[in-house]
Amino acid sequence: MKKNMKKLLALAMTLPLTACGSPSQPESAAPETVAATEAVQTEAAETESEQDDGLTPVEQVWSPVDEDGNTKRGDREGSGSNGVVTSANVYASQAGLAVLEQGGNAVDAAIAVSYALGVVEPQASGIGGGGFMLVHTADGEDSFIDYREVAPAAQDAYTWLDENGEVKNNGLANSRGGLAVGVPGEVAGMEYALEHFGSGNVSRQQVMQPAIDLATQGYVVSNYQSSAITDHYGDMVGDYPDLGSYYLREDGLGYQTGDIFTNPDLAKTLQMIADNGADAFYKGEVADALIEAVKKYDGVMTTEDLTAYKVNLREPVSSTYRGYKIISCPPPSSGGTHLIEILNVLENYDISAMEVNSAEYVHLFSEAFKAAFADRAAYMGDTDFIEGVPLDGLTSKDYAKTIADKITDESQKWEKGDPKQYEGNSTTSFSVADKDGNIVTVTQTIECFFGSAIAVPGYGFILNDQMHDFSTDPESVNCVEGGKHPLSSMSPTVVLKEDGSPFMTLGTPGGVRIFPTIAQVISRVIDSNMNLQEAINCGRIFDNGSDDGVCYETAAEGVVSGESAKALEEMGHTVTAKGEWDIFFGGVQGVMYLEDGTLFGAADPRRDGKALGY
Ligand code: GLU
Repeated sequence: MKKNMKKLLALAMTLPLTACGSPSQPESAAPETVAATEAVQTEAAETESEQDDGLTPVEQVWSPVDEDGNTKRGDREGSGSNGVVTSANVYASQAGLAVLEQGGNAVDAAIAVSYALGVVEPQASGIGGGGFMLVHTADGEDSFIDYREVAPAAQDAYTWLDENGEVKNNGLANSRGGLAVGVPGEVAGMEYALEHFGSGNVSRQQVMQPAIDLATQGYVVSNYQSSAITDHYGDMVGDYPDLGSYYLREDGLGYQTGDIFTNPDLAKTLQMIADNGADAFYKGEVADALIEAVKKYDGVMTTEDLTAYKVNLREPVSSTYRGYKIISCPPPSSGGTHLIEILNVLENYDISAMEVNSAEYVHLFSEAFKAAFADRAAYMGDTDFIEGVPLDGLTSKDYAKTIADKITDESQKWEKGDPKQYEGNSTTSFSVADKDGNIVTVTQTIECFFGSAIAVPGYGFILNDQMHDFSTDPESVNCVEGGKHPLSSMSPTVVLKEDGSPFMTLGTPGGVRIFPTIAQVISRVIDSNMNLQEAINCGRIFDNGSDDGVCYETAAEGVVSGESAKALEEMGHTVTAKGEWDIFFGGVQGVMYLEDGTLFGAADPRRDGKALGY
């Protein structure tokens, strides 16, 4: 038994924490974990430097808790003039920084961060999932690498539904088990990025070594991760024992805050990829084991689906906000398009004269969000499969003006607009900026925490439930078709100054809250004169037109006050109080370019985020 284990046993149950990106799944507020577990984390981190098998866990240069055991709400930023890496976990930020220091560029470092996050934040992303990478190179080129999962060829809009049109398995068939799993894209995406955008100064082995070390030597489990494990304890001791075989300790309890976690199976799989590239994942023994795991849970994915997987290089969507250039995600994400739609609406107002999170301010954001969500439901899907998605209209400033013109002093129910008239002819997030002016921002995911709950035995990774991002309505533009990408909200974004020089880059998890969160952070920096860390720390709101109305955090910096909540109700809004520093509102990581040339990295105190620079 590990040191401290007895003490940790007493903390078997922490408060449940759920994170899932789907609009169709009820999303609980995610309460912060109990202070007692935080106190143990600090103590365990201090005393537990060696495991019984003699392996020393990878050094953690920073801990997300202070000496009193409380989650640090400050000390998340990190700066440098040579490079900055900011991610949802300090070990992953360290991995990226190490690759920059070895002469890698921002893309090389981002690949290191991506693989490391799959080890230390396996509930959120990993090689069983997919994502998007936006690359802005020093010469001004923007490229968008889409390694989003696709539906297996044999799956269609009816595969999930029973004879009554209801989702099978008590409504869970699209989020748990084999029919929830999309064909993973992450390994292919990383391979593509390294080959086409890497510096050539570092090898695949070098960019993957930090992740392999973390899986072999181990890392200290955080509150955030132990809470996620606790929340999925039922799956692990129930229908998904393979997941439990990784995330439950020998005593049957989930890994707790302060435990050292190793995953030798995942280390082996990562080493196979380091040796033989993406083929080691999409063909051969890993592919066979993956398909066997999916089939065990009634999935229809085949080895042909894996070999057919292709990365797409796409044109980002772009626009301006008060003179700054916004570059973000095109379909199959809806995020960038609706981020631009929202910013275009906001541009019609003098937000700099408004108090952040006052009733007037929240009302404006809420109306802009609801209008965008009505359009999203009507128009957005995978443009490789559906024609006529009005991207130009949705991102048109004239169209946004028609929305702004309809906003009154009262809360409204929004219907889809008519963007076609304005057509000129639609997780975890991290950012890396290097000294040469290359910027990479990535959002990657396995969708819900612990994805489909299927772990691949012997290989140590978890399969996504990205199929959950499809609509279950066979008539929807976002219905399932073999090979189609489920609609995403992920929006890694780059902001440039008017002269084209870098200003800021940012991204966040949070499902459908992603692009509203990014819009709030961008506006707070540009309109409300906050630095990026202040803008991240500031209380957020969300409204997608559902019965919850305006959702707001009850503690963060500068949250919506009771008085403002009351005033919003008087305007006809329903208001819903969420948790304190609530992960429901995402986990933003970003980098800002300061006037003196410093790269200022900022990270979200709602999760384990930490920026490091050098
Ligand atoms: N699957 C979601 C999307 O692609 C992201 C999930 C999350 O952020 O939790 O939009």
